[in-house]
Amino acid sequence: MSYILIIDQGTTSTRAIIYNTKGTMITSSQEEFKQIYPKPGYVEHDPIDILSSVRSVISTALTKARVKYSELLCLGITNQRETIVFWDKVTGEPVYNALVWQCRRTAERCVELENLGYAEQIKAKTGLRLDAYFSASKMEWIFQNVPKANELLKANQLLVGTIDTYLMWQLSGGKIYKTDYTNASRTMLLNIHELCWDKELCQLFSIPIEILPQVCPSSHFFGYTDKEILGFEIPISSVAGDQQSALFGQCCFDKGDLKVTYGTGCFLLLNTMEEALSSTHGLLTTLSCQTIPNSPAYALEGSVFVGGAVIQWLRDELKLISSAKETEEIAKSVKDTNGVFLVPAFVGLGAPYWNFEAEGLLTGITRGTNKAHIIRAALESIAYQVNDVISSMHRDLKKSVTAITVDGGAVENNFLMEFQSDITQVLLHRPLNKEVTALGAFYLAALEQGIYKSLEDIKHINPIERTFTPQMMEEDRNLKINQWKKAIRKSLLK
Ligand code: ADP
Repeated sequence: MSYILIIDQGTTSTRAIIYNTKGTMITSSQEEFKQIYPKPGYVEHDPIDILSSVRSVISTALTKARVKYSELLCLGITNQRETIVFWDKVTGEPVYNALVWQCRRTAERCVELENLGYAEQIKAKTGLRLDAYFSASKMEWIFQNVPKANELLKANQLLVGTIDTYLMWQLSGGKIYKTDYTNASRTMLLNIHELCWDKELCQLFSIPIEILPQVCPSSHFFGYTDKEILGFEIPISSVAGDQQSALFGQCCFDKGDLKVTYGTGCFLLLNTMEEALSSTHGLLTTLSCQTIPNSPAYALEGSVFVGGAVIQWLRDELKLISSAKETEEIAKSVKDTNGVFLVPAFVGLGAPYWNFEAEGLLTGITRGTNKAHIIRAALESIAYQVNDVISSMHRDLKKSVTAITVDGGAVENNFLMEFQSDITQVLLHRPLNKEVTALGAFYLAALEQGIYKSLEDIKHINPIERTFTPQMMEEDRNLKINQWKKAIRKSLLK
């Protein structure tokens, strides 16, 4: 038997998953690592912590699965996107902590650049909003604030990359200095139409273009891991940013296929294939994993900042529940929210609003409001926010999607799934294996290894467990959406 090892390097934890060649997960191992918050709004990771978590989960997973190194065919990587690391080419030591995608330290700088009129040009080239979320302004910050970065640059000893690049370089003993298109498209330095680092944008952010890593497709032979470093030498056969990997893992291979991930936040990606659709409704354009060799593939993307996190808030702050699971039964115990709407704009609102000033609110409360109404309103708020992003997609596409595939921790909640299907009027497909992020990297690696010959070979691996069909009356639905919109307007008022 041979196996494929996948590393899923996420924002709060790292996982190693071992699959057999049929796509069955043999075992997985997970480890959390430290989140560093030096100031309000600042978020960092120690790259050494990340690397040691990777080594540790690999070794635990191999031991648990009783798989020997010699039985491993290859390695695939999927990772948190946008987070950026600088390190020393000679010693491998990080120059500074990784600046995490959530970090807002460059928000003011992005507003300054917007006021200077750069937003349009950036959107046209990269498909992204001029925002601190993406890597470019974070990289500029390092050059402006960390003298060591400039010293190493002068000595021709500076390397920089997203987490995939850092991990590949470390695991290969410094031999691989590459990234993939999906990760590169989140740096705000890649021209997503020409598929190369953009000279003008690199100049704008004062980033020497020549130090950036080589960009490759996601299903690709990147090079070998180093025996001295990892204990074994195997090819690295796939690399993809987490959301694009999930899109691939959901087998959204066709134009118009949409996946929604319900985790802490909600992440929506719609496959637009060869068409780099530029959104006029608050969405991003990004590169997805190619399904046709040498042909770039694009996706429309929208992220909701607070998804499942609103349920954590009910549990940890309001103490209305003791576990997320309870919310399904409680929500179903009442016929509706009795006019209550919750807008969980805890950190502003993401797509399609992109408003960091928006305030969280609970509205429509009366003497008759009870705990179940509030819990139900919290679950419904997840679905309404997702629906807002899908509505923007409909407007950009000039047509409606009729089905979505879902994944992430909160999809266990049948009430939420039913309500989403009702409010969005779509068929909602929930697959058997809900861990599709790692599965995407597995499919990409298995394709590179020739285990699967075509996308058709992959489609049956993770069947649909349940499909939810819309049941709500049109009138009822319109009324609810209008009330939600009213609540959003209040949240946006300063
Ligand atoms: P992440 O990958 O972002 O850490 P997960 O995919 O593990 O998130 O999902 C965890 C999130 O899903 C948490 O925010 C949690 O509150 C929410 N969640 C988990 N189970 C349920 C449930 N049964 N109902 C509603 N929300 C849930």
